[in-house]
Amino acid sequence: MALLVQKFGGSSLATAEKVMRAAKRAVAQFEDGRQVVVVVSAQGDYTDHLIEMARAIHASPDPRELDALIAVGEQVSSALMALAIHKLGYGAISLTGAQAGIRTDEVSTKARIRTIDTARVRSELAEGRIVIVAGFQGVDREDNITTLGRGGSDTTAVALAAALGAERCDIFTDVEGIYTADPRIVPEARWTPSIDYDELLEMASLGAQVIHYRAVELAKRYDVVFRVRPSYNESEGTLVCNLSDQMEQVDVRGAALDAGEAKVTIRGVPDQPGVAARIFSRIARDGINVDMIVQNVSEQGLADVSFTVMESELTRAMDIAESLSDKLSAAGAESDSDIAKLSIVGIGMRSHAAVADKMFRALAEEGINILMISTSEIKLSCVIRRAAGEKALRAVHRAFELDRESQPEE
Ligand code: ADP
Ligand code: ASP
Ligand code: MG
Repeated sequence: MALLVQKFGGSSLATAEKVMRAAKRAVAQFEDGRQVVVVVSAQGDYTDHLIEMARAIHASPDPRELDALIAVGEQVSSALMALAIHKLGYGAISLTGAQAGIRTDEVSTKARIRTIDTARVRSELAEGRIVIVAGFQGVDREDNITTLGRGGSDTTAVALAAALGAERCDIFTDVEGIYTADPRIVPEARWTPSIDYDELLEMASLGAQVIHYRAVELAKRYDVVFRVRPSYNESEGTLVCNLSDQMEQVDVRGAALDAGEAKVTIRGVPDQPGVAARIFSRIARDGINVDMIVQNVSEQGLADVSFTVMESELTRAMDIAESLSDKLSAAGAESDSDIAKLSIVGIGMRSHAAVADKMFRALAEEGINILMISTSEIKLSCVIRRAAGEKALRAVHRAFELDRESQPEE
């Protein structure tokens, strides 16, 4: 029997009516003769609310306890969804991540899924029930509750689709699918009917919050073809799959803004072999993800080392930077949260030397200063002042004429 995974995001479950509407979508597929697994996020901004509750008590909450708290949001949604399906007269059962067999590593607040034991889910499906799984959560080897990082319910859905060999995976959200940029910031952003895993992976890791980047990573690895589609109408949304045969034609495909990073600078570091290794191995040991790194060398054999981290990890990163500064006899550490990262993405970009020129000129024309730059095969990112972020995103979107072409079909 064909099996379908449906994932509903927080905004698609924000009210009792929306939960009922999502339940009807699951039931419609069940009625069509499919087995249905539904993955749910916390309602609305309930996860933010839970984080605020923790911070009201402790400024730097213990990650294990934070996970125990924020996993609650998805449990609320999963039980409500099961009740909604019961109300429609169908069998359904809600399962926590642990009950659904989702085992992760031990890295609280950004755990990775290690294995999924699908026995319980399969036996519930075989009993004729719709199975509702709380997204975003799992348990580690010692049964501690872990969460997968903000937006991680998408990853639960794709991982379950892979483990269960699902015929389809639908990610229901509050937009028509994937656009060339966030349509809330760039009104003329263009919807796309399909996108390649690699491009979406870059967009997602560069701040387009529409999908959790690890969901795309998993989908690519396990060949899970999935759709990002609206929960409020019947549109098919955007198909995410392997489009590598079309890649040669592609230039710049989209732009993304990430206002969730902060910059740390260690000033006056001795410019000697081994110093960078010492700094970044110490940071890696604490499990802090570093994104961009820039080193400016001064004339007196001293260097300033700057790097960006997730803003939520800034306090810990600064503690380490200050202690490293003392140990290296550097001039001190400072932080800057007033930044945003603007990126353009597209396979085949590197062969177009004009791309960087066009992006820098678009920013210059708006009087926007560039603080850091990084490039790869398929992306170009600039760190700028946060207040200029949205204006810069619109300017770059315009400069690359990303607003041309198709609209979604119902
Ligand atoms: P959900 O609660 O369903 O997981 P999210 O809020 O995580 O939804 O993601 C959907 C949001 O992502 C949209 O409302 C949109 O503002 C934002 N977004 C950012 N970049 C893009 C993009 N390139 N295409 C579509 N949506 C985007
Ligand atoms: N509820 C979690 C979050 O807000 C996970 C998710 O929505 O995917 O980050
Ligand atoms: Mg999301």
